[in-house]
Amino acid sequence: MEAVQFHPTAIVPVGILTTEGCRGDGGLLLDKDEYRFMPDYEPGKKELASRDVVSRRMTEHMRKGKGVPSRYGDHLWLDIRLLGKEHIEKNLREVKEICEYFLGIDPVKDLIPVRPTQHYSMGGIRTKPTGESPSLKGLFSAGESACWDMHGFNRLGGNSVAETVVSGMIVGEYVSDYCEANYFSIKTSTIEKFLKREEDKITKILENNEGENVFELKKKMQETMMNRVGIFRNGDDLEKAVDTLRDLLKRTKNIAIKNRVRTSNPELVEAIRVPKMIKIALCVAYGALLRTESRGAHSREDHPERNDRDWLKRTLATWKDEDSELPEVDYEDLDILSMEMPPGSRGYGTDNIVHHSDTKRRVQEIEEITKVNPGADRFEIQELLMPYDLPEKLQGKNERIGRGFK
Ligand SMILES: Cc1cc2nc3c(=O)[nH]c(=O)nc-3n(C[C@H](O)[C@H](O)[C@H](O)COP(=O)(O)OP(=O)(O)OC[C@H]3O[C@@H](n4cnc5c(N)ncnc54)[C@H](O)[C@@H]3O)c2cc1C
Repeated sequence: MEAVQFHPTAIVPVGILTTEGCRGDGGLLLDKDEYRFMPDYEPGKKELASRDVVSRRMTEHMRKGKGVPSRYGDHLWLDIRLLGKEHIEKNLREVKEICEYFLGIDPVKDLIPVRPTQHYSMGGIRTKPTGESPSLKGLFSAGESACWDMHGFNRLGGNSVAETVVSGMIVGEYVSDYCEANYFSIKTSTIEKFLKREEDKITKILENNEGENVFELKKKMQETMMNRVGIFRNGDDLEKAVDTLRDLLKRTKNIAIKNRVRTSNPELVEAIRVPKMIKIALCVAYGALLRTESRGAHSREDHPERNDRDWLKRTLATWKDEDSELPEVDYEDLDILSMEMPPGSRGYGTDNIVHHSDTKRRVQEIEEITKVNPGADRFEIQELLMPYDLPEKLQGKNERIGRGFK
């Protein structure tokens, strides 16, 4: 859960994203002196570096005092004026509308105030290739909420399309197969017991006359996550974040709300949701504290190297006891010897990876398999390297990608 992707260009202060198409089409990032700083950091890719790299460079530049001061904190400028009115109105109309509605500015003439913001969670419910949880029978997950291994500790923009459409289709088939093959029965008394337990929790919140303000707890959680578990992380800050979040979690046991209505009550909704959010925040912060390396979106200033030798593993956080203050953290090793594409250096700059001993072996194995099967097409090679059982319905010919056709 500690792998959290930041998007570079959210508008300040509301945090709505301007598409990466702005930079893709030629938009520039400028600092408080209206100086274009990205070429200094990334001479090759400039503004087109991947979103985690751009987010880090922006933060680095603001830390040097080059951010534009504002009452909502420092920010930088996104300049799409050079693209011209016609292009913006045709290709970036949504950005123009967001700027007009939420900032009262016109990006054809004005600079857009931006800074990186939390965007996507690479972690999720651990699943088998079928989408089913390995530990809770009958629980399936697909999309952003799943840890289905479409990406690792980072993600390319656009991956969600594959994640939602492809995994949605595959996992959906497995869910329907599962439902056909399994009969499920729950005793009414079990449901009533659970319902009563949840109703009692709500009643306790509604009847509490003096206690914690849920909006203050939420704000403190947000500040802690942004300031101490953000784009750059280090052991000291993460430790403080875990301590603060543990304290906040304890305080959620005594939330009191002003609005006592049982239905359509946003304050009550927050009172139910915020303790759960703090638990998720703890999974992120605690996992990040324990992971003493940098990997993908998890960037530790005190451990800048990617350490495949010791850390090529998934963090599994579970909350076995509802009342405990911290999740239990376990690790699941990745099996390099069953990978179609073994780990490698696929980022920017120098290779500062501490490699795993199996990587070299697997690279040799793959070369060998490819060599002894000279006539095999990419589907056959993939089958030899990393077989994956698709649901029967999806095993047939696919004209679009050429599967099954010579
Ligand atoms: C501003 C923004 C821009 C993005 N741009 C891109 C992009 O350009 N390209 C890209 O690939 N990705 C992009 N992403 C990421 C992508 O949109 C998401 O990863 C993707 O939409 C997630 O889809 P999902 O179906 O897994 O989850 P969601 O779309 O979040 O769907 C989850 C659904 O579950 C419902 N739900 C939640 N709790 C319950 C409950 N208890 N009971 C019943 N229902 C519930 C929610 O209401 C929601 O409808 C963007 C994300 C954001 C926020």
